[in-house]
Amino acid sequence: MLAQRTFMFRSSDTAAARSVARAAAASGNEIIDLTAGEIWSDLAPSVREGAIAAIRCNINRYTDTLGLMELRHALARKISAETAQPWSADEVAVTSGAKQALYNAAMVLLNPGDEVLIPSPYWTTFPTQIALAGGKPIFVDTRHSNYVPRVPDLIAAITPKTKAIVVNTPNNPTGTVYGRDTLAGIATLAVERNLWIIFDECYGAFAHAPYTHDPIVSVAPRARDRILIVNSFSKSLALTGWRIGYLAGPSAVIGAVKALQSHTTSNPNVIAQHALLHHLETRSPIFELRLQRHVANARALGLSILSALTLVPHPAAQGGFYFYLDLRGLQQRTQANRCELDADSVVNALLMDAGVATVSGTAFGDPTGIRLSYGIDLELLDKALRRLTATLNELTFCFARYL
Ligand code: PLP
Repeated sequence: MLAQRTFMFRSSDTAAARSVARAAAASGNEIIDLTAGEIWSDLAPSVREGAIAAIRCNINRYTDTLGLMELRHALARKISAETAQPWSADEVAVTSGAKQALYNAAMVLLNPGDEVLIPSPYWTTFPTQIALAGGKPIFVDTRHSNYVPRVPDLIAAITPKTKAIVVNTPNNPTGTVYGRDTLAGIATLAVERNLWIIFDECYGAFAHAPYTHDPIVSVAPRARDRILIVNSFSKSLALTGWRIGYLAGPSAVIGAVKALQSHTTSNPNVIAQHALLHHLETRSPIFELRLQRHVANARALGLSILSALTLVPHPAAQGGFYFYLDLRGLQQRTQANRCELDADSVVNALLMDAGVATVSGTAFGDPTGIRLSYGIDLELLDKALRRLTATLNELTFCFARYL
């Protein structure tokens, strides 16, 4: 009865993990939820004031499909400052979050059967959007290289149908930050093989010292006409619900996005656009810096608790606000005891025994990892990670009751 394409997707696995946590909490258990991809934070005052002022001014109508021209100019200035290159408004589209920017990119770049390389583990939405646009996701396993793609592995996955590479740094779910050498290697490959780079830097505000986030276009300016930048304010301003993101790239691509967006959502919410414009015009980094400090404190607290893990290596957590636990060692030990232990069963054990909700790596194409978000309140985080560490350390070599 439904269209064939509905078989290509189901609801996002991270959203599903959140629902499981809520259901467990609703049945009376005390559950601490480490599944969400967002930071608990108040609104930035500049965003709040910008929105209130827009409503007071009776702002109401459609804007240009790609967003208010003033906002596109302000975003072009932001991108110019971040990349140390000049960008203009006609190279920027305002979208309803980064998710729409990515979907637009897939829709305007891909022909049926075009292949897109995705380093794996990957954020769960990338492959589905590519499939919806008629493309074919090709996964490149990064688990043997500390979750950073190696150029030879990318090369091995290239075929005549390869059209693009997704580069997401700082990475969700693994928390890795790709270094300049990796970015330069990928950019060279894109130029040599005529590939697009879809550069998702949604977590760019959260690279934890000594790691730094480098826009790929700054590392390799000569690849600029092959690069689409995807970003949003969902993470950097903890503004997930306001749905403002952007896509930046060659004006021909942005022109195609304009036509597409004019038939899908039209402009993003006008009040949210004014709020972001006001925020960008105030040019005060205080709120962002406070948020970054909060995330850095949460990371430090989390790493100190997780340092007590005995069966699982300590996560790198170079960027973003995720700890990604590598269960491979644990899995080998349980296998030696003739017991299969996948990430789903560990997630289940943590929910039942520790009252902590996490996301199984299967949501990210990796049955050997689990993701913990540390964007929550510090007291709760402390409690959750202590309980989680105790439970993981107590996992004996077989716990068949969870299987
Ligand atoms: N890209 C990555 C890597 C993400 O993790 C997310 C959200 O979790 C998004 C894009 C989507 O962000 P937005 O909420 O701005 O649509």
